[in-house]
Amino acid sequence: LASRDFHPENTVIEIGDVKIGGGDLVVMGGPCAVESPEQIDEIARLVKAAGGQVLRGGAFKPRTGPYSFQGVGVEGLVMMAEAGKKHGLLTITEVMTPEYVDVCAEYADILQVGTRNMQNFDLLRKLGTCGKPVLLKRGFSATYDEFLNAAEYILAGGNPNVMLCERGIRTFETYTRNTLDLSAIPVLQGLSHLPVISDPSHGTGRRELVEPMTKASVAAGADGLIIEMHTDPDNSMTGDGVQSLFPDQFAALLRDLEKLAPLV
Ligand code: PEP
Ligand code: MN
Repeated sequence: LASRDFHPENTVIEIGDVKIGGGDLVVMGGPCAVESPEQIDEIARLVKAAGGQVLRGGAFKPRTGPYSFQGVGVEGLVMMAEAGKKHGLLTITEVMTPEYVDVCAEYADILQVGTRNMQNFDLLRKLGTCGKPVLLKRGFSATYDEFLNAAEYILAGGNPNVMLCERGIRTFETYTRNTLDLSAIPVLQGLSHLPVISDPSHGTGRRELVEPMTKASVAAGADGLIIEMHTDPDNSMTGDGVQSLFPDQFAALLRDLEKLAPLV
């Protein structure tokens, strides 16, 4: 079902008046984690003012270590839904387990599957019936074939609205957190009809690389971007402050993108 042989036309995911995969560039911006109502409200305001269409933020965080901040949970879903509604943005949040799919689907417009869960098949099966679009991140060691097979689980369950997200893969390089595989964008668009989103934040792990790799992703044909932005990155509650843009950098980047591709 994910293959272009089977479905030659691009899949266009329509949520409200936002169309993903229809030729316009979609920008999802926000913090790694939802921290407080004030934090997510202020960031939502800034994402909207900059021209973004979707507010990102994790209420459930898949941390590498068990003692790290794990997210604020269901309360974070409520905070983000309120901020999104107030500022006229769609919302996207990560769901980590099948048990939480229903509550995440109740509060968010798009559900995100993180890189560490790309092959959590029970989760993927549950997302097949969740009724909301899904952004599936590529596993950091997954081949394109494995990635498309993971998408296939969601599609086979009856959900046609899947976006593929390249978020960097593990290579021998240690200077960057991951290696953003730009080739994935045209390769996946050739093999599949699903929209392809690029995540230059996790793809590089370094703030100064987010701007050039965002532009490179757009040049490579990405249908959208998911970018971390924080009002106080140095004090963010996850380690991802180092890759989060400051609000003025985010706004400047989106102004530059308007020159490369029309924003919705
Ligand atoms: C995130 O988007 O904050 C995140 C945890 O992403 P990934 O699953 O790509 O590491
Ligand atoms: Mn993050």
